Amino acid sequence: MDLVVGTWSFCFDAIREKQKLYRSQESCLGAVEKTINDIECNEKYGPCIVGRGGPPNSAGYREYDAAVMEGQTLKFGAVTALRGIPDAVSVARAVMERSPHSMLTGEGAGRFALEHGFRVDKTPCQSITENNPIGHDTLGLIAVGQHGGDIAVGVSTSGAPRKHPGRVGDSALPGGGLYANAHGGACCSGDGDEILKFCPSFHIVHLISQGKIPQDACEEVIRNIHSRNSDMEVAVIATDTKGNYGACSTVRSWRDPMTHKLYQGFPFVLWTKDMTCPEIKLAETVS
Ligand code: ASP
Repeated sequence: MDLVVGTWSFCFDAIREKQKLYRSQESCLGAVEKTINDIECNEKYGPCIVGRGGPPNSAGYREYDAAVMEGQTLKFGAVTALRGIPDAVSVARAVMERSPHSMLTGEGAGRFALEHGFRVDKTPCQSITENNPIGHDTLGLIAVGQHGGDIAVGVSTSGAPRKHPGRVGDSALPGGGLYANAHGGACCSGDGDEILKFCPSFHIVHLISQGKIPQDACEEVIRNIHSRNSDMEVAVIATDTKGNYGACSTVRSWRDPMTHKLYQGFPFVLWTKDMTCPEIKLAETVS
């Protein structure tokens, strides 16, 4: 792997732990899936905001949206409104590789997951109170293989807290919460009910395909969204297949749910093959 970029600082530990995997012969898709799955399911990475630690919907249970996409092949797999199975990114990969479909939703997604050996998680949901508001963020990861020969993007989220059962946000929609082609990849986090109207991930990758560097593409898309709706929170990361990356958001401040550190903007995590440890970076803010 040449480059791995992830949304929000809560993916730092998982990316640091996976450096050995990134230096091995693992595919980009495998790297993305294994890193996201660790954050969804492994206690060590904390009372996370996605997967097992995600916020419940208005009926008191978790519904997951997750997707993966490979840039070179345009292969795509997603699950939406998947109930009770926190390995949502792995189920999305299974949809891509072990079904003739691209996206499964709700009860059908759950049935597919059980048929393919995934287990329902019985961990009770935390209740959302004033003292325990529980955030809502999307874990998005982009991995670029050696010399850009391979690129994959993955996302996982529990969506907006107290969402209506069956509500699907931007995250698992191709072009909305993620996109990749042979030139680059992008993914985003934020107010999914608004974000999906702008297809930001497709827009960013389209600009990269036309020759823009990822940072300029991210800024152009966030500025465009902000000029149409200045109230919404949206954060994006992107890479091309040459080793360049970019990030931009409308986030003014954000507190990491694991370290409780307050960031004045959108923190994302960067790992390159020359680093001995990943770094947390603050994205450009448009406000
Ligand atoms: N975009 C996600 C959703 O609306 C949540 C988030 O990223 O905060 O489902």
